[in-house]
Amino acid sequence: MASVTGPEIERLIQLLARVPGLGPRSARRAALQLIKKREQLLAPLAEAMRVANERILTCSVCGNVDTSDPCTLCRDPKRDPTVLVVVEDVADLWALERAQATMGAYHVLGGVLSALDGVGPKDLDLDRLVARVAEGVVKEVVLALNATVDGQTTAHYVTELLAPYGVKVTRLAHGVPVGGELDYLDEGTLAAAMRQRTAL
Ligand code: ZN
Repeated sequence: MASVTGPEIERLIQLLARVPGLGPRSARRAALQLIKKREQLLAPLAEAMRVANERILTCSVCGNVDTSDPCTLCRDPKRDPTVLVVVEDVADLWALERAQATMGAYHVLGGVLSALDGVGPKDLDLDRLVARVAEGVVKEVVLALNATVDGQTTAHYVTELLAPYGVKVTRLAHGVPVGGELDYLDEGTLAAAMRQRTAL
């Protein structure tokens, strides 16, 4: 198929197409918008990407992505260091922060155990998690992992790993989503919600 544009714009489109949520068609549309709004959009975006690319690093304490190490959250004195929230990925940490769900500290595992994908304990940031708990400040570890088989396998593994340290280990409730209607829930969710019912 013949190219409509020169190689520079084709390259922009190809790179945009690799962004999650964008396919080739959306990438083409996005590229065209960027080019049309060169001053308002393309130039500031290019500058923001250049700066981010230079300054982004991974927090050596929690595994969050930021431009400082320790990260903004780890340096925040208002966070409660006695509650440690364990997540699979930075995206989950950001989701919990958007929801203002906790004032605890975080620990990013960098994945979950998966026999199918060949992910073992050595592939996760477990040593640093154990080291943080061993310091004795943490009183509760909240396993905020996905309600998938791999997520729950990992939750069990971490629970056993932390058992010698005498910390309380909790996990997120599984059940009826806020605003959810019972009739629309799958059987697994409904059964879990019934098992984890709470007193009013
Ligand atoms: Zn951090």
